[in-house]
Amino acid sequence: MADKGTKTARQIIVVALVLLAAYCVWLTHRDFHLTVSFLFVDVGQGKCNLVVAPNGRTILIDAGTHTYGQNDRVEAIAQKVISQFARIGVRKLDVISVTHPDKDHYNLLPILMKELQPSLLWLPLGEDADAEWQSVKAIAMNGRTQTIAARLGQRLWLDTKRGVFVEVLGPPNGVVPKVSEWSPNDASTVLKLSFGEVSVLFTGDIGGMGQRWLLSSGANLRATILDVPHHGSKHNLETFLRAVRPKVAVISAGRQNPFGHPYPSTVEALKRLGAIVWVTGEQGSLLIRTNGRNFSLIGL
Ligand SMILES: [Zn+2]
Repeated sequence: MADKGTKTARQIIVVALVLLAAYCVWLTHRDFHLTVSFLFVDVGQGKCNLVVAPNGRTILIDAGTHTYGQNDRVEAIAQKVISQFARIGVRKLDVISVTHPDKDHYNLLPILMKELQPSLLWLPLGEDADAEWQSVKAIAMNGRTQTIAARLGQRLWLDTKRGVFVEVLGPPNGVVPKVSEWSPNDASTVLKLSFGEVSVLFTGDIGGMGQRWLLSSGANLRATILDVPHHGSKHNLETFLRAVRPKVAVISAGRQNPFGHPYPSTVEALKRLGAIVWVTGEQGSLLIRTNGRNFSLIGL
């Protein structure tokens, strides 16, 4: 009888251990899928910011690099971007948003659109007659990529079940860059992504004009993470940075770039606000993972 009892007890323990292991696997799986990832790729002097929602849907905000006259840099950087995306399991894009038609924000697109087949290209308000920009749009229109213009107040849902969406906060509708006093940089599409208590503000290259307008627009600019405007240039207003009050400030700027980005006073202003400042050219690509409440920073 004692032997039989011991055997039964052992069987119960084995079953309990198997159930516990299965529960742990389920927890890991569940937590993994409840995570939003932000990848700020070190593309040299440019911007390339990826968002991956819990359901796997993706949006890429800008993808460009300064070539300094070396055209082979575009191919090399595009391959680096594709391999970093693959490292976090991304082999296809759903949406690409270009904040404004400057090469350091879009010149990786011909390769990325071919390799990662986005279904939607979100276009900026500003136009440019530049042949390279026109060819990016032509590639999209000739393929299966739908194009729409970003307009103030538009909301794009990435994951409705988990409440992950991106909203256009600027520029105001009707702005015609160059013709009006708005520069193409100031007319960059400004996007805010929200997931639970965590939010990210993507700002393209807005300067004083765009920042002042945002401050007066009444939009809630507070954000956990700030994609710092214009590669951390001197055109950042302290009042704007204070309104955002980020915990993490990411500056996409190339190492020893000739533009003096990031500007020391911009970095100091961010540090005074208590932000962790990450400069891609110095520290490399940054992956941020969040469950909507806490977040972790991982250097890639
Ligand atoms: Zn730029």
